[in-house]
Amino acid sequence: MHVRTLTGGLAAALLLSLPLLSGQAVAAEPSGGTTLLPLPAARVLTYDASGSVEFASAVDRGAAIWNESVDGVELRPAASGQRANIRILADNGWPRALPTSLGNGTVYIGRQAVNQGYNTVRISSHELGHILGLPDRKPGPCSSLMSGSSAGVPCTNPYPNAAERAEVEDNFSAGFSAASRAPVPAPRAATVEG
Ligand SMILES: [Zn+2]
Repeated sequence: MHVRTLTGGLAAALLLSLPLLSGQAVAAEPSGGTTLLPLPAARVLTYDASGSVEFASAVDRGAAIWNESVDGVELRPAASGQRANIRILADNGWPRALPTSLGNGTVYIGRQAVNQGYNTVRISSHELGHILGLPDRKPGPCSSLMSGSSAGVPCTNPYPNAAERAEVEDNFSAGFSAASRAPVPAPRAATVEG
């Protein structure tokens, strides 16, 4: 009985203090907090999937997944005759990416992995992930995009996880401001396999 009374009193005190706390939080916000600051524009990267032959729609889906997943960069199909940041080709090798600098390079959607049963949309978003500055994270679970083929043929997840999304946001928030002054150096010179 005594305990119940105490608990009730405590709960009532908490209920009373909640509106006070939230009121204080609002009051403590600087007046500038109500001003709508323009969001930094996403850095637009163009891609040319015309050489990816039968994988063109999987590449479009992979690009759309990145557009759904991050705010700092946007992948758009290049206009006809426009030089694209990213070239996507199909060949008979293993899928791979050749980044030349952050956001630039060539992706190969290799039929070797496709013929083994690996998912073409996951391959596409994985390889685009390399162009967006992500390294492989192998071995890794299916929830990770950059675990690539190590997650096995049954893994069809084409979405980057929270850490991978955050890493790309970081890459482009840093890369964008640097890019306005000087070219961003290549993150790696060698081909990223798979
Ligand atoms: Zn890879």
